[in-house]
Amino acid sequence: MAESLISSLECHVCSNGLIVFSADVEADRVLLECEECMTGRWGPDEELHFLTTDMLTRPATYDEIRAMGWSLLIQAP
Ligand SMILES: [Zn+2]
Repeated sequence: MAESLISSLECHVCSNGLIVFSADVEADRVLLECEECMTGRWGPDEELHFLTTDMLTRPATYDEIRAMGWSLLIQAP
């Protein structure tokens, strides 16, 4: 299982979680997910958030993240 790529974003909900790039397996759509409080949102500027605990997610690939135009948000290792 690949590790999720981490973003440089901060969680607006818990303020201390790592935001990782995930993909909703059913919708095959990339989302941002907080590893701490398990909230997700569909984009970096999206205020609306939801719980990802009921969703089946997988780590998003670099190519998927780049296709969304978010590659600059990937935190350098
Ligand atoms: Zn959080």
